[in-house]
Amino acid sequence: MLPCGHIAVAGPRRVCRHLTESEAEVPYVRLFSGRGVEYDLCCPPCGESGPELVVACEGCVARVDEDEWECEGFRGKPEVKERPEPIPGALRRVRLPFAPLDAAPIPSLPHRWLLLDKGAVVRWRSDQNEAVGRVRLKMPARAGEGYFKDQPARPRLHASPSGRYCAVVTDFGRYGTVVDLTSGRRTATLDRDGHYPGTTYFPFAFVSHVAGERFIHATGWNRLDVSDAATGRLLTDRAFLVPEGSRLPDHHLEYFHGALAVSPDGRWVADDGWVWHPVAMPSVWDLSAWWQNPYETEDGPSIRRLAHRSDWNMSMCWLGGKLAVGGLGGLEDSPLLPGVRIFHPETGAEENAFAGPEGALFAAGGKLVSAAPGGAEFWDAGTGERLGRIPAFVPIRHHPASGELLQLAGDTAILHEP
Ligand SMILES: [Zn+2]
Ligand SMILES: [Zn+2]
Repeated sequence: MLPCGHIAVAGPRRVCRHLTESEAEVPYVRLFSGRGVEYDLCCPPCGESGPELVVACEGCVARVDEDEWECEGFRGKPEVKERPEPIPGALRRVRLPFAPLDAAPIPSLPHRWLLLDKGAVVRWRSDQNEAVGRVRLKMPARAGEGYFKDQPARPRLHASPSGRYCAVVTDFGRYGTVVDLTSGRRTATLDRDGHYPGTTYFPFAFVSHVAGERFIHATGWNRLDVSDAATGRLLTDRAFLVPEGSRLPDHHLEYFHGALAVSPDGRWVADDGWVWHPVAMPSVWDLSAWWQNPYETEDGPSIRRLAHRSDWNMSMCWLGGKLAVGGLGGLEDSPLLPGVRIFHPETGAEENAFAGPEGALFAAGGKLVSAAPGGAEFWDAGTGERLGRIPAFVPIRHHPASGELLQLAGDTAILHEP
């Protein structure tokens, strides 16, 4: 018989005695055990005093830990695992002709980037430090936007897979623009409506399609659409009708869309959004299902809500077919703890988690790179071990074709080349 009073298989976590005494769902805290991100469970008073923990059966552990709304957060510190090894590659500093507001890799072309100047986009070759071609554009308006003190409205540049099109959107703002760089013509004006646009990055992503390049963009706080990059034509038209006797339309979605990340194979879209009041709810859905069902992003069967937690606007990146989401913790852990959780997009199951990574995340050379404030850190995402770091180098972008990591510092580009 186990200390919880049951003759059963021992559960994966230990618990304090007070949690074994109640059959009801009760408040509890998660106590890091010191082994990776493993944790035990105890009542909140025991969480303050170093409790005596006992083995409990699988059923008892599941009963306590299954209701995340009762969880009052983590206590203690997780273990950050280390396995130091040399980080291949070198840093190179390059003087640019101006101080870019942002930079975006052209995904299909090694060493080719777009740089954003005030009112213009410039093509740039990082291997030859050559700025070739300057296309003027009208910057989207961003007066009075932004919501969080530390997240002001700011322009962000996106490049289409071929580099023919670019978008300048306002993160933590409402508007954006899409431009054909071969002609300088604006093909679309983006507007995601005025309902709290300052709470998230502008939901935007270019995608490849056999019929041509397309882009996903928010057209409302709770609505995403796909449009043709060449013409701006809307491809996901759909009606939201209010049934008689109802206040809300069919397919109504209570979800603020956030930063989007499309998987490298183009199948999955991850969405770092939130729901009132507020609960962060990173999600993923199947882009190919959207072509069949125009309501896929509202209530389609492929949607997986991956977690409920305190903060959004954390970084996400795709890593060998899985989604890495930055930040550890639940509804009461604010801010979230440095770390990464790795999810399977099809099942939504969490497959791995480890402590340590913070800042923007990149999949680079088979490793996970985190742009921590003190410098880039390289991780083995399989074992969760930190392999090494490059002090004072804080990249903002990764080039998927040439593997460069890029930091902008005034009119200087700092490149890490593998
Ligand atoms: Zn207790
Ligand atoms: Zn039990």
